[in-house]
Amino acid sequence: MPISRRKLFRQIGLGAIAGATVPALRGFSIATAAERAKKSFAIEDQPVRMPTAADPVLLYRNENPYGPSEKVLAELREAAASGNRYPRKEYETLIGKLAAAHKVKPEQIVLGCGSGEILGMAALAFLKPGKKLVQAAPTFPGLGKLAEAAGVQVTSVPLTKRYEHDLGAMLDAAHKQTGLVYIVNPNNPTGSLTARREIDAFLGKLPGDVTVLIDEAYHHYVTPNTVYESFLDRHADDPRVIVSRTFSKIYGLAGMRIGYAVASPEMAKRLPMGFPSWSVSVVSARAASAALDDEEYVRLGVKRNIDDRQEFLNQVNERMVRAIDSQTNFLMVDPLRPPEEVIEHMKHNHILIGPKYPVLDKYIRVSLGTPPEMQAFWRVWDLMPPTGKMAM
Ligand code: PLP
Repeated sequence: MPISRRKLFRQIGLGAIAGATVPALRGFSIATAAERAKKSFAIEDQPVRMPTAADPVLLYRNENPYGPSEKVLAELREAAASGNRYPRKEYETLIGKLAAAHKVKPEQIVLGCGSGEILGMAALAFLKPGKKLVQAAPTFPGLGKLAEAAGVQVTSVPLTKRYEHDLGAMLDAAHKQTGLVYIVNPNNPTGSLTARREIDAFLGKLPGDVTVLIDEAYHHYVTPNTVYESFLDRHADDPRVIVSRTFSKIYGLAGMRIGYAVASPEMAKRLPMGFPSWSVSVVSARAASAALDDEEYVRLGVKRNIDDRQEFLNQVNERMVRAIDSQTNFLMVDPLRPPEEVIEHMKHNHILIGPKYPVLDKYIRVSLGTPPEMQAFWRVWDLMPPTGKMAM
């Protein structure tokens, strides 16, 4: 049954795709997601979102496709009017809210122009010449790239077979001349978790002078379980640990560029040295404060992501390919054909997905879009000829 549906798509697909929009795909099984979306999120009889060169479907950077909440949008509009002023109380307000939310002192919070800037701060502070970075492979490449550009040695330790950080091997690597260990939990690009218990044991054995950056960019998407526990929900009480978070994902503010770190007061003082103290805009700081207040929208985002992720897995199963179990808003899929073929095919049809990754080089990474965007994705997927028959 799924096979014949795919055949049908191949027959009807190309012609339909040429149009900017097509009517909802009647009989397409993903209609269940669209129906659910319509019910819970008021996506009124939307046409399938067929991409064009000018308006591609963006499934490549793990953004929040639903955008910020209405309350945050209202704040953004109002805040824009104060764009002529340098920051005054906005940082203080936001830091106060973050400190209260994480039960720390305000002097333990460092704001950044995206959590990417926090990674930059950690690199500058702890990756001095002769000190190396230890990280997983594959993982989010931002910090590794900064280190390489600065001529710092990077040791990338493959994830375990269960896609966890291989903390035993990372510990071995961290015993010599290591300035910084980078743990991304949940990990990007795999969406997988590393057990808190294992990280605690790792910290217990790590040399005292090694700093650890725990990147929790995707924290909100984790379904509660016995393995994962955030370092902001239960603090490590370890001055070597820095935790980074972002407003780019669940809060839908990637373009506003705002993230933060939580660390010991001494570490928080050291971290931003050498960085501009006003890199966060007034508008971003106010939007982030409003986003923190809008807890209902976070709950909605989490629920929506669970539904979208399940629907994605349903579609994966129908096509008899395999995805790595994900606790985030993106998934890695083994498409059973060269990943570059899929990436290229999608790009050709104006759908952008993640790049190829080291170690897991048979996989593609797909960020979850809205139901109409995912309908477009699967529709374009079904246009791929049988394995090995694609012209590159
Ligand atoms: N950390 C991880 C794991 C990410 O995946 C990303 C971006 O996708 C970042 C950090 C940087 O995010 P931002 O600078 O938008 O906060």
